[in-house]
Amino acid sequence: MESPASPSWEPYFWNFEEECLPISKLRARQAEAWEKCLEQVLKTPFYQKKLKQFHPSQNILQHIEDIPFTTKQDLRDHYPYGLLQVPLEKIVETHASSGSSGQATLVAYSKQDLEIWTDLIARGLTASGIRPGQIIHNAYGYGLFTGGLGFQYGAQRIGAIVNPISNTELEKQIRLIQELGSQVLLCTPSCAMSLAATALKMGLKPHQLGLKVGIFGGESYTPEFQRKLEEIWNIKAWNTYGLSEIIGPGVAYECPHGEGIHLNEDHFYPEVVDFATGQSLSEDRMGELVLSAITKEAMPLLRYRTGDRVKISYAPCSCGRKLARLTEIGGRFQDYFSIGFKKFHPYEIERILFKNKEVGGNYQIEVSKNANQALTIKVELMPGLSTQAFECYFQETENKITEDLHHYGIESFTLDWRAFGELPLYLGKAKRVLFK
Ligand SMILES: [Zn+2]
Repeated sequence: MESPASPSWEPYFWNFEEECLPISKLRARQAEAWEKCLEQVLKTPFYQKKLKQFHPSQNILQHIEDIPFTTKQDLRDHYPYGLLQVPLEKIVETHASSGSSGQATLVAYSKQDLEIWTDLIARGLTASGIRPGQIIHNAYGYGLFTGGLGFQYGAQRIGAIVNPISNTELEKQIRLIQELGSQVLLCTPSCAMSLAATALKMGLKPHQLGLKVGIFGGESYTPEFQRKLEEIWNIKAWNTYGLSEIIGPGVAYECPHGEGIHLNEDHFYPEVVDFATGQSLSEDRMGELVLSAITKEAMPLLRYRTGDRVKISYAPCSCGRKLARLTEIGGRFQDYFSIGFKKFHPYEIERILFKNKEVGGNYQIEVSKNANQALTIKVELMPGLSTQAFECYFQETENKITEDLHHYGIESFTLDWRAFGELPLYLGKAKRVLFK
């Protein structure tokens, strides 16, 4: 770890020099990485074919839009090893998607890739206050999923103590948090909510279990949901973003100034494009995040369409980092659902629900498959609040939610209030929209 330039920044930086590179140096670094990366990928048939029409002149950063996109289908079509840019002997680890929404895909890491991945996760964890000796309850899945091992590598590099909990059943996890004195919880936001519900069912108060910090990612959630987790657990909650195709967790991390999620631009070149046309969008407009893994050795995907709805900002952040920020990470484009001719997104419905102080816990949106497409929103109340009390005393909140949903374009729906912990619990990602 390099010494920070200013001691006052020390608590928040893993590598001050890298994270706060002046913009001109950052762009020069990216241009150099692009050139090296293009030279490397052109040695393999997949990119030789894809880049046949691409002849950049001097300033590479001005020509990125001429490179064709890489898609999930490309990974499927070349499963398992067809996109490797190095011989198999240089690969030291692989991860794969389950293939639940199609054929499986594989990602691969060289020693150098693991080194960078570990360092980038250490960056994010340090910004979230993780220090040597802290006890981490790592409930991200181990195995083919990148979350468990990725966070373990980063936390161990810092010198923290990692308990590799993975998807151990929830009651046992609560006992382990107590017995091992865990201070940091790593898991999906819906798992953090489910753990709180489990603690309450066991007669324990989540905020008395000793956790101080939560780092929640692996699925999209709103800042409003994040604040609820802080309130229920009495912790500081941080967002984190990544995807296996690019590297896994460690693509972007939240800084203490809460002005968005810093993207590790020195390794992942970001663009935001219109989901339908693929045309570049200006800063601060919601579009699809496209990432190029320009320093990856084993499998550097170029202009990979992530399918994630984001807004990006290049404005300086008050923390001192010059890395671009994802100011909104609004779920996946594929999660839009239709009622009649209108499309709606669960992320926007979550915002409407969770900005109200009585609402907490998990929720489910049910769309009936009948011709009427009736919509039922099952949503839990904050711990300790009964549905009867809510119906008697909080008519105003229900009216407000109704008004906001109308404003969003949802005209007809049923709000089905549930007590905290009554809806299905999750070890990993939640299923928010069901078609019944
Ligand atoms: Zn910042």
